[in-house]
Order: sequence, then structure tokens, then C-alpha cells
Amino acid sequence: MTRRRIIVIGAGLGGLASAALLSRAGHDVTVLERNGWVGGKSRRIQVAGQRIDTGPSLVTFPAAIEKFLQRFDELGTRDSRKAREIAPLDLQRLPEVGRYFFRGQSANLPVEKGHAWKPAWDRFEAEHGPLGNHITTMLTNDPWDAAIVPAAAQLFRHYGRRLTTKKYLDGLSWMPEDLREVISIHTLNAGVAPSATLALFATMPAVMATDGVWVPTGGVNELAQMLARLAMESGASVHLDERVTSVSRRRVVTESATYEPDIIVSGLDKGVLDGLRGKKVKKSRSASCSGIAVFAVLDTELPSSVVTHSVIMPDEPDDLYASLKSRTLPAQTMAFLNYYRAGHIYPNDRPTVAILLTAPPNGKSYDLTSEFVQREMTRISGVLGLPRPLADMITDHAILHPQYFAGFGGLGGALYGESNPWWRSGPFHSPTYSSRLSPWLWRVGASVHPGGGIPAVLGGALISTNRLLRSLGNGQHRPE
Ligand SMILES: Cc1cc2nc3c(=O)[nH]c(=O)nc-3n(C[C@H](O)[C@H](O)[C@H](O)COP(=O)(O)OP(=O)(O)OC[C@H]3O[C@@H](n4cnc5c(N)ncnc54)[C@H](O)[C@@H]3O)c2cc1C
Repeated sequence: MTRRRIIVIGAGLGGLASAALLSRAGHDVTVLERNGWVGGKSRRIQVAGQRIDTGPSLVTFPAAIEKFLQRFDELGTRDSRKAREIAPLDLQRLPEVGRYFFRGQSANLPVEKGHAWKPAWDRFEAEHGPLGNHITTMLTNDPWDAAIVPAAAQLFRHYGRRLTTKKYLDGLSWMPEDLREVISIHTLNAGVAPSATLALFATMPAVMATDGVWVPTGGVNELAQMLARLAMESGASVHLDERVTSVSRRRVVTESATYEPDIIVSGLDKGVLDGLRGKKVKKSRSASCSGIAVFAVLDTELPSSVVTHSVIMPDEPDDLYASLKSRTLPAQTMAFLNYYRAGHIYPNDRPTVAILLTAPPNGKSYDLTSEFVQREMTRISGVLGLPRPLADMITDHAILHPQYFAGFGGLGGALYGESNPWWRSGPFHSPTYSSRLSPWLWRVGASVHPGGGIPAVLGGALISTNRLLRSLGNGQHRPE
């Protein structure tokens, strides 16, 4: 094997994962990141001395992390330390996926005993819950790999001809309509409406209930820290606060240096990469949703009935989907409240909340006094039956909004980048890892696997990096 000089642009989860695998395989890897932290959208901040994650809040499909770690271990020499010894990651399973509030009713997922939705949920989970391993296979294997075929066949025999999430769920006449809405709104976790995603996405909440939703002890940014440690332990260097300003054939220019690598791996949004290559960026790209997120420290714990992850749905989900499409603020939105008591998951001595409001990708900025934010916080406080309005309990806060998220790739702050038509959603997005025209340039990250969050980003990094290593004749083990 010839040791190649590889520049990875972006220390988001995608860039870091690929840097870890490539350096473990023996290459000379440098990661260039414009910001002063590792993790990109998965960022850790301090508010009044309390640690809060501002990006992803839940880890789903933990088997994707396992597959990544296995591959990392395989790429080492016989004497190399294993991933878990270098950077242990302790995932804690939450007791429920979340508590869902909709039109005056509420239920946990999985639905609890005695609830009117219980029989329908149990039937749904029994059918869809066991499909997690097939989805993981599709997320972590090359689309051309033979392993994909039986997994896809197993999945798609469930949906018949009802190929979008909406059509599939509408056809389940035995399921109460409100439960159908609760399941279908999960597609917004991938940034798009149920009519714009493959039926496969209907399966996700059942898999999340069966396989669990998880948070690393210390917070989700621990995953980014782990990836960075694996990369650096394998010899990669990670340069923070070094913004790339242009990318051309085997040449990467930053604000302070010029690099001449053999190979470039981009963990950037497609539009950002096109801009850096001097290409015209398509303006009309359809976008996934954005968000307004308030990260706050509270003066008191919330009532014991408030679970870690609450989902407060709008009364009319269709109106929300229409608003997001037209990029206008909705009358009511899908809101998440992530609540951590002092000492739970995070090393904090005060309670914290993250209030995440689904918002259109309009590139605007909002603060705590914005009418939409105030209105939704009042609604959340009422729906959860809090003794005092949330706004009165907040002692300190930070807020992020579409304008901030737009910094990661434009499109008005779309959290999951460009959205595809439903037949190209999820695993059928026809990812461009590399092209014959520019074999020196490889891509990883959310823009190659839109809508999938952490598992898709890790799976995509695995697939793309494996292809790259194979093309270098370096697919198996690092030479001793
Ligand atoms: C609010 C929010 C909630 C989410 N919730 C979940 C969740 O609960 N579960 C889940 O699985 N997923 C969730 N996600 C999605 C998940 O965070 C993303 O899919 C994932 O973090 C994307 O990683 P990435 O590496 O592809 O991109 P990014 O994190 O965007 O990484 C790209 C990196 O490139 C850097 N960069 C950009 N331009 C340059 C330049 N010119 N020079 C150098 N560096 C540059 C950026 O600073 C960034 O660090 C959420 C996302 C958000 C924003």
C-alpha cells in the first residue's frame, strides 16, 4: 500500500468518522475545520456553567456505531489498541422513545398498558419493530453490495404498493387516526413531510421503540469526541479554526495555508463544496426543515411526570407540513422538549431543557422574545401542565435559529440539507461518493445521506471510505 496524503474537510461526524478509518488504515490524514469545536452540528455548549448539546439529542440505530467500531478495529494491525480501549462510549437507553402530546391526548411510545392506542401500537410494533437490523444493513452497506437485496426485500414486502409513509399509514384502517399522525410526524426527524418520504420511514418509530433510543453518558457530543480521539490516536491531525476557502484538483487552500494532498474527502454540504470549487450553486434546491432551538437552565426541576423527551404536536399536522413547504411560520409546530434533571446524563448541578421548535428554512434569526417562540413556549407549558410557564423558569439561555444553521450549508438553515423526491428519500438517494471525473475527491456526511441523522452519516462514512480504500488497494488490514 502507498501511504497517501489525505485532507478531510470538516470535523462534523461524517468527516471525523472517515478521518478515523483512513488514518487507521495507515494514511496521512489532516482534518481542517472552520469552527473551534469538533462535531459540527453536534456541538456542546455551556450555559451558566451547565453542559448542553445543541445538535442531535438522541442516538438511534446504535448498531450503526457498532459496525463503524468493528471496521475501525479491522483496519488496525494485530497489536493496535481496539476502538473501545482508545475511546470508550457509554450509551444509556432512555426508558421510552418519548411522550407524545396530540389533540388533548398523550401517550408514551411504546404505548403504555391501559391506553386506548395500546392494541394498535402493539400490532404495529410487532410487525415493524424487528426490522431494525435490515435498515442497519441498508444504512451501512454499499448499495451495490449483495447483502442489501434480502434486507430490502424483507422491508418492502411490508409496504406493498403504498410506497410513501402517508399512503402506507393511511391504509392501516385498524389504527386509530391520531396514532397514525403520531407515527407519521416522525418523518420530520428526517426533515420532510410524510407524503415526501418512502414508507420505510413509517417503520422507524417502531424500531426506535424495539431497539431503544440512546444518549451517551456526558451527552451526544461524546460521540464526536470519540471519533476525534480515534482519528488522532491513529495519527490524524485535526486543525480547528482553519476555514477552507477553495478546493481544486489536489489543492486545498485555507485562510492560513495551502495543502497539496493526493486525495480530498469532503464532509461538507454539497452546496458549500460546490461553492469552494467555484461551481455555480443551484438556488432552487428543495430543502428539509429548519429549527429554532432554545437551550436553557431552569430555576427548578420540572414535575416528575415530565420524561426526558417530550414531543408536543401541532393540532393540524397537515397545516405544519404546508407551512414548511411554503417557508412560512406555522400557527403551531412540532416541538420537542428535552429535559435533563441535574446529574442525569450530563455532569450538571442544575436542570436544563432544550426546546426545539420545527421551523421553515427561512434563514431568519429569532430570540426568546420573538412572538413565535413565546407562543410555542406558552403552548408547551400548557400542554405539559407545568405549574409555571417555562419562560418564567428560565434563568439563562442560548438560542439557535435558521440563520445559524444556514452557516452549515445555506438553504435557509435546512437541518438535513436538500430534500429529495420521495422515491429518492432515505437509502435510495443515489449518493455520489466520488465521480470518474474527479477521482481525487470523495464525499461523506449528511449531504451524501440526507435525512438520516447520525446512523446514516456513520453508515455513509463507512461505505464511502471502504470504496476509497478499495480503490487504493487497501481494503483489508493495515500493513504491519
Ligand atoms: C438541531 C438538530 C437536531 C438533530 N437531532 C438529531 C437526532 O436527535 N438524532 C440524529 O441522529 N441526528 C440528528 N440531527 C442530525 C445530525 O446532527 C446530522 O445528521 C449530523 O450531525 C451531520 O453531520 P455531518 O458531518 O454530515 O455534517 P456537519 O455536522 O454539518 O459537518 C460539516 C462540518 O464542516 C465544517 N465546515 C463547513 N464549511 C467549512 C469550511 N469552509 N472549511 C472547513 N470546515 C468547514 C462545519 O463547520 C462542520 O463542522 C440533528 C441536527 C440538528 C441540527
